[in-house]
Amino acid sequence: MKSNKIYLDYAATTPVDKEVLKTMLPFFSHDFGNAMSIHSFGQTALEAMDLSRSRIANFLGCSIGEVIFTSGATESNNLSIKGILRSYYSQKNKKLTKPHIITTKFEHPCVLDTCKGIEKDETAEITYLPVYNDGLVKVEDIKKSIKPNTILISVMYVNNEIGTVQPIKEIGKLIHESRENKDGLEKFYPVFHTDATQAVNYFDCDVNKLGVDMMSMSGHKIYGPKGIGALYVRSMTPLKRIQDGGDQENRMRAGTHNVPGIVGMGKAITEIQNPKSKIQIKEILKLRNYLIKKVLKEIPKSYLNGSLEKRSPNNANFRFDNVEGEGLVLSLDLEGIAASTGSACSSGALEPSHVLLSLGLRHEQAHGSLRLTLGKDTNKPEINIAIKKIKEIVARLRKISGGVLRDFNS
Ligand code: PMP
Repeated sequence: MKSNKIYLDYAATTPVDKEVLKTMLPFFSHDFGNAMSIHSFGQTALEAMDLSRSRIANFLGCSIGEVIFTSGATESNNLSIKGILRSYYSQKNKKLTKPHIITTKFEHPCVLDTCKGIEKDETAEITYLPVYNDGLVKVEDIKKSIKPNTILISVMYVNNEIGTVQPIKEIGKLIHESRENKDGLEKFYPVFHTDATQAVNYFDCDVNKLGVDMMSMSGHKIYGPKGIGALYVRSMTPLKRIQDGGDQENRMRAGTHNVPGIVGMGKAITEIQNPKSKIQIKEILKLRNYLIKKVLKEIPKSYLNGSLEKRSPNNANFRFDNVEGEGLVLSLDLEGIAASTGSACSSGALEPSHVLLSLGLRHEQAHGSLRLTLGKDTNKPEINIAIKKIKEIVARLRKISGGVLRDFNS
């Protein structure tokens, strides 16, 4: 049943689809076996897990052995970066030079913090690529940054705050060209990883068309459950596990399988492939464009952060001069509208968004942002209410801050 609150934060998380939930339920109770057990309880769980893995492999255009289940995109990203570095240092009988990793300034904190940790340990040199005011990285910058010791390039597919879509296919092509004349283990470097968490709902994730070697995804962003994710790893990619324990996931990820989560994630993927999902995306895009047009037209000194064209269909990220994003989000919440200033993960901190700063915005501009992300259940009356409320609240907050400013100046 839909509540009368308005949810516009689908990039933070999505509700579990009814069909997905139905598919998962038996695996909490009746079919509760451990997928590693050899008895019939275990085999039932294993079969369900195999089906889910084949559904995800079908979506990615890869083989089932190339899909590793994890606890979410945070873990997938940690595993891909740390696992490549660990594999590099495990080479025997070779004089190793300090390796080099390329990423961007506006990745999710789970990628950036992993890279910062590596820098601190001095186990690799990291290049953080710039992002321009359209919210896009330039393939040319990547080309210039690749060095003989570059072992990994990690660029997100769709940014979680501003929804901009990166040129993954072009980057893939560039990386493959840079490997062409190499041999031995070298021919696998640089490995190309992409965090596709925010892309899976809306964009082609065929790993061969994109030319990626590793891809991270998460269940709860695609109308699946929380606490489940996957990492695609192209066969022969030099990756070592980072978590010790059991032999699950081809010895790449130790820990008892989250069988209901895995089943749910597989079902969520088949729902994305359902033709009705394409129609929903068109509807979402239409509504999102309507929202952007109205807000920019009706609210003075309002701006869209990042490119309009190269953008996920469900994302609108605005900034309003002289308005604090946190105040706006809290006021909207009092009106029953759920929105966000940036990513949910960092909204506990009152730091300006690193994503908006990477676009070249000043601190005070980066503080005034509002992210509205639409989903399958969003409708036009909800968008109209949201626009009306944003307009009222922005005017009110500006009046208050105007007063404070005048007091301050007197
Ligand atoms: N990467 C991106 C781009 C995300 O949006 C998120 C979730 N905010 C994550 C990684 C982390 O995903 P999870 O919640 O599955 O750990």
